[in-house]
Amino acid sequence: MPMYEYLCNECGAVFTEILTVAEMEKRKMPCPKCKSKDVKRIVSHIHTITTKKS
Ligand SMILES: [Zn+2]
Repeated sequence: MPMYEYLCNECGAVFTEILTVAEMEKRKMPCPKCKSKDVKRIVSHIHTITTKKS
């Protein structure tokens, strides 16, 4: 599942959620620190899992 990173506009906290696309679209994740729903998704920072085994 993809990981989404969010930035809280209230307190500036950055938090990560692992959600399916359907989950992400139907619910807006509140900030875990201040419970604000004024959060934005950080799309520029996508976690890619690379398995490098030498
Ligand atoms: Zn917050």
